[in-house]
Amino acid sequence: MDNPNIRNMLIERPPKIAYFSMEIGLRNDLPTYSGGLGVLAGDTIKAAADLGLPLVAITLLYRKGYFRQQLDLNGSQSEKPVDWNPADLLTELDGITVRVTIAGREVALRPWVYPVRGATGGTIPVFFLDSDLPENHPDDRRLTWHLYGGDQRYRLAQEIILGIGGVRLLRELHIHTIQNYHMNEGHAALLTIELLRVHKRSIQETWDAEHVWDYYHVRYLCVFTTHTPVPAGHDRFPYGLVDEMLRSDYVPRETIEKVAGSHELNMTQLALNLSRYTNAVSKKHCEVSRRMFPNYDIKSVTNGVHSVTWTTPEFQALYDRHIPDWRQDSFMLRNAIAIPDAEIVIAHRAAKERLLALVQKRTGIVLDPEILTIGFARRSATYKRADLVFHDLERLRRIARDVGKMQFVFAGKAHPRDQPGKDLIKHIIDAARGLAGDIPVVYLEEYNMDLGLLVTTGVDLWLNNPDRPHEASGTSGMKAAHNGVPNFSVLDGWWIEGYIEGITGWAIGRKPDDSDLHVDESDADAESLYEKLEQKIVPTYYGQQDRWVDTMKYAISFNASFFNTYRMILEYYSNIYFL
Ligand SMILES: *Cc1c(COP(=O)(O)O)cnc(C)c1O
Repeated sequence: MDNPNIRNMLIERPPKIAYFSMEIGLRNDLPTYSGGLGVLAGDTIKAAADLGLPLVAITLLYRKGYFRQQLDLNGSQSEKPVDWNPADLLTELDGITVRVTIAGREVALRPWVYPVRGATGGTIPVFFLDSDLPENHPDDRRLTWHLYGGDQRYRLAQEIILGIGGVRLLRELHIHTIQNYHMNEGHAALLTIELLRVHKRSIQETWDAEHVWDYYHVRYLCVFTTHTPVPAGHDRFPYGLVDEMLRSDYVPRETIEKVAGSHELNMTQLALNLSRYTNAVSKKHCEVSRRMFPNYDIKSVTNGVHSVTWTTPEFQALYDRHIPDWRQDSFMLRNAIAIPDAEIVIAHRAAKERLLALVQKRTGIVLDPEILTIGFARRSATYKRADLVFHDLERLRRIARDVGKMQFVFAGKAHPRDQPGKDLIKHIIDAARGLAGDIPVVYLEEYNMDLGLLVTTGVDLWLNNPDRPHEASGTSGMKAAHNGVPNFSVLDGWWIEGYIEGITGWAIGRKPDDSDLHVDESDADAESLYEKLEQKIVPTYYGQQDRWVDTMKYAISFNASFFNTYRMILEYYSNIYFL
């Protein structure tokens, strides 16, 4: 796409929403995402394109990607940079340069663009900011190399590029119609600082040095989605670092302190203070966020996934035959309930065989397609408790021996500096050794969007057992549901809204309540997990095929028809953007 094309596109349909995200995952070979947040951003943009919404998106380019994961025989993770050439997929906008000042030095930024085309003809441009330009200082050229790499200084520099550089990019593109600056997580919150600077009023107008900063106007323009109740997920920077990096190049320190906290710059607080609307990503996460930030009015919009992206080719063909409008309207998936059982079984079997073939190719392990296959793939963070199912190996072995066989497929990357997350992978590999001969367990390297599709669709049951209430929403279970794979999950995040016991899947552990008590419930949760497997899930899988296939169909009809980004973006549109 050349510059005049972009310009025409923006003139024909002036964008009203600018969506800012530190990571955006649109396709597997565009390695500008790490996990759930980025995939959600990509799925949101695809749904907006399907509906032809007037939205543009902004993120960073990441020439070295997140990382490629390698595991040795003991499950020790090592990381390699991703090798990719942006010019293969994106178009560089040669004539356009954006400038920001970082630590007193000017940094030039070049946008690259990727057009996302929707099912009904809408196109949304996604802009990737790149600092790797010959005119920049060598240190500054690296600022957009690594997603979530580097130290706090590196991170703050990236957030200056995203927030401040992003707003300046819109100006450079002559986009003056934005009514919603959408911060997808607090990483983008410095955009409010640039907006304060731009909308500064003159002293002649206000007669008061304090009132030159037009907080109300900026609030009116901004909306914020918070994504995690885990404290480490909320960026905070000491003011010493802020002074060094931002100096007084944008707005004075006192002004920042007023909206971002007096002890340190808290990006979440900044976003909360300068947004007219803040939402959490599930009803439960909304309650938890309200308790975390009691002085703010937080609402909720539950996450979704992009239906076409997260449906395997066999299920796509099945829906094309039985539910012709599903590609434009995900609500239609409720009609999956009428698809003949045999066709569901055949489509799922194809997805399962594709996964098992990949397992064999990568690990040499031959899994049996007749055996109940349980999947677990997500970021390896301790609160996700990937090893909960191995709490009591003897018990698990007994269920497999006395009730029915099981096998497990795992995948997931640990953040390079998250040692406990890395240890968790080793623990699973240890457990796999302990179960050898009785219960096959494989751990696949390099979890990414392609593997995500294969694993969520190719297993029979999707397991999720986070330490509540830390799962803000979770989305991989929604991908499973789109392919007739029922969920087996702790009641946290989206599953509280999606589960109907024994109908759409099964719950692990206690019912949700309002307590925020933080106690370790691993023993009780493991007990519940084993009991459900033993009493309900394994017997149904092997003994009542009709009931099992009903569950598969209900997962699609009740869960997939609702937990998708088509429904989600319509809620953003009517409740937030154009309220
Ligand atoms: C969907 C997806 C995620 C998010 O999964 P959760 O269940 O929300 O943890 C993470 N990584 C990849 C590669 C995905 O495709």
